[in-house]
Amino acid sequence: MSHPKLKNFRRIVVKVGSSLLIDAAAGEVKTRWLEALVADIASLHKDGRDVLIVSSGSIALGRSRLKLPGGTLKLEESQAAAAVGQIALARIWAKTLEQHGIGAGQILVTLQDTEERRRYLNARSTITKLLEWRAVPVINENDTVATNEIRYGDNDRLAARVATMTSSDLLILLSDIDGLYTAPPGANPNAKLIPVVDAVTADIEAMAGAAESELSRGGMRTKIEAAKIATSAGTHMLIASGKIDHPLKAIADGGRCTWFLTPANPVTARKRWIAGSLEPKGTLIIDAGAVAALHAGKSLLPAGIVRIDGDFARGDAVIVRGPDGHEIGRGLVAYDAENAERIKGRSSSDAAQILGVSGRTEMIHRDDLVVAGPRGLETGK
Ligand code: GLU
Repeated sequence: MSHPKLKNFRRIVVKVGSSLLIDAAAGEVKTRWLEALVADIASLHKDGRDVLIVSSGSIALGRSRLKLPGGTLKLEESQAAAAVGQIALARIWAKTLEQHGIGAGQILVTLQDTEERRRYLNARSTITKLLEWRAVPVINENDTVATNEIRYGDNDRLAARVATMTSSDLLILLSDIDGLYTAPPGANPNAKLIPVVDAVTADIEAMAGAAESELSRGGMRTKIEAAKIATSAGTHMLIASGKIDHPLKAIADGGRCTWFLTPANPVTARKRWIAGSLEPKGTLIIDAGAVAALHAGKSLLPAGIVRIDGDFARGDAVIVRGPDGHEIGRGLVAYDAENAERIKGRSSSDAAQILGVSGRTEMIHRDDLVVAGPRGLETGK
């Protein structure tokens, strides 16, 4: 099966591993390499793409700034090293992006931020706002507060969750290897690169082995885990070598890499999740005008809401019913029951004033809404 072209994607997460970014001997960022990568990012950005960066390196950089001896760090040592390294890391990204007139926004997330729905929505809206402002989010795990039991530990899976959470359509894992091989290429001269993976099967998982390099935590195994997360939620993923200059340009020019293709697209995948797996916490009764708007594919605005039942929180699933009580659809509500009650029936500008916010006030954004058709809740698009 052929694979899509880089220029077809509108929102791309680029994950950069520590071993690419940091020169292990010098303990410093490889500035020239980073500048070339950022030139590639700037060119995607200039083409109107949203780009998000997931960057590792805080622990490795902190370690060198603090001149810590080699060997394994204890948890509290790596947390403290990350506190020092993250400042340096963020500064370098910001400075390099700034050379292209691009603002950088630092986001440090923990496992709970991506796995608990309410926090997830918060992180998602902050990131979406940055993208709306054309800034580039630079994301890492908040290593300083993450404890052993509740942390990702590797940025491969973190990047995959960030990609699915932001409905990104492509995740690029830049690695010290140029893709997935049939066997570990170092040990097996007959190992072949697999250009396209259509589904992460048990065979594919078996090929991953467990290789880890000195600086990065994730070997191929966490990359395969990332592929599972990404492709099951509608995000394509690829693994490519970051050991060359201009790695993204190389991918665009058809360079070697492994694509992991998803059968779904992110919005469809989220809608399937909304339709299928959530327990609705409340009901919104809407007027006939809003029913027509929803059938036309629009978002649900406060103005169309007649009555609110149930005690729900922001981000909970609710059922939307028409004036006659007929189910129109389901969605993730953007306000808790109390605030929803305050703005129901009001125009969007009144609602914004009441809530003291500026900008959008959709009760349910259309990407978070599944409208029932003649055959029930339709999630395809
Ligand atoms: N969050 C870790 C750091 O910045 C890196 C995790 C990884 O290497 O995947 O040092």
